[in-house]
Amino acid sequence: MTESSRPTRVLVLNSGSSSVKYQLLDMADSSRLAVGLVERIGEKTSRLVHTPLAGGPDGAGKRERTGPIADHTAALRAVADELARDGLGLDSPELAAIGHRVVHGGLKFSEPTVVDDAVCAEIERLVPVAPLHNPANLTGIRTARELRPDLPQVAVFDTAFHTTMPEHAARYAIDIETADAHRIRRYGFHGTSHAYVSRKTAELLGKDPADVNVIVLHLGNGASASAVAGGRCVDTSMGLTPLEGLVMGTRSGDIDPAVTFHLERVAGMSTDEIDELLNKKSGLVGLCGDNDMREIRRRVDEGDPRAALAFDIYIHRLRKYIGAYTAVLGRVDAVAFTAGVGENAAAVREAAVAGLEALGLAVDAERNAVRSDEPRIVSPDSAGTVVAVVPTDEELEIAAQTFALVGGDRSGGEDRARAGRADDA
Ligand code: ADP
Repeated sequence: MTESSRPTRVLVLNSGSSSVKYQLLDMADSSRLAVGLVERIGEKTSRLVHTPLAGGPDGAGKRERTGPIADHTAALRAVADELARDGLGLDSPELAAIGHRVVHGGLKFSEPTVVDDAVCAEIERLVPVAPLHNPANLTGIRTARELRPDLPQVAVFDTAFHTTMPEHAARYAIDIETADAHRIRRYGFHGTSHAYVSRKTAELLGKDPADVNVIVLHLGNGASASAVAGGRCVDTSMGLTPLEGLVMGTRSGDIDPAVTFHLERVAGMSTDEIDELLNKKSGLVGLCGDNDMREIRRRVDEGDPRAALAFDIYIHRLRKYIGAYTAVLGRVDAVAFTAGVGENAAAVREAAVAGLEALGLAVDAERNAVRSDEPRIVSPDSAGTVVAVVPTDEELEIAAQTFALVGGDRSGGEDRARAGRADDA
């Protein structure tokens, strides 16, 4: 194939336990050609929502179908069919690669990696430390390899950006032999987002990432903070699993581990029940019954005390991490808010830095109230540290990393196309 007709499209797949999210991007200009989601895989009420975007980002041609989709193989075949209807099928010569989000890469994978049998085996070896995520990611990879065995498949790991953490941040203070025997350490997650947002924040400041220290607050349904010094992660709030750290939609975040012994010995709960309690029934939903920040803020404004307590606990934890990472970094150039809550909830940003002028932190009420998809500064010009809102784009980052690895050029105008994220398709 000549240089000018080199394939430039990348399909990004994010395979969860019962869902597959996907986006097809053209890395020639970072435009999105289609986004979609298959959910409730394995149930009678599976649903596929597919939105072609080639004609524009408005999603006018959105298609939806419901009915049983038995497994991930059937789901990917259905996705391939939908793409083919738009002339974007997996057999297209314009498809350069498929990029897969893989949650856990352990210590081995610090970079995006072209998938072969050995890489699949290593991802499988990590299942004990990521039992909820890695099996689904692996199924997605295997199915995609079956559908297009000749096409490069690239695994992009959520943990990769955090492999630069120094040992004193990555290790738990537990018996070192036990820890090593069972690979127990802090790996961190959401790394693709932390990498993208910290780099974009440096860009927003007009500086080289190597010269900037940033605290990134990725506040979605899952939430994590990271301390990034000169473009390298030096600490992050998630640990062995995505349970540690901030208060999340349904996860407790930091907790005294003795709570688990107590629940077992005194409340008679099984390990699986405690796992479910801390991962699915805790955090905001456990505290007030809602995990959507919009709903919580609405209830707070109506004077609901449970919602107010949940909000205060959420903010208190966030402020503790901002303080801790200020100490870890020594000098902080910017605090960047991202993901669903971070990008949209002005009240969270305001409360997170309220009264922290001594740390150089403040928001300007008018700037903070602006809604936009663009990276923006919300602190007053007089503040010592920039507070910014920097929308994340994990799919674009996965596509860029995938394309770069298979011989493309990642400088292809990644800023130009942010429309149409698959998350809420
Ligand atoms: P994830 O990818 O972890 O599922 P997202 O980054 O998409 O999560 O964030 C989802 C969350 O963002 C929702 O649960 C909700 O709490 C919050 N959110 C989305 N839009 C708004 C908004 N306009 N105001 C406040 N919170 C919002």
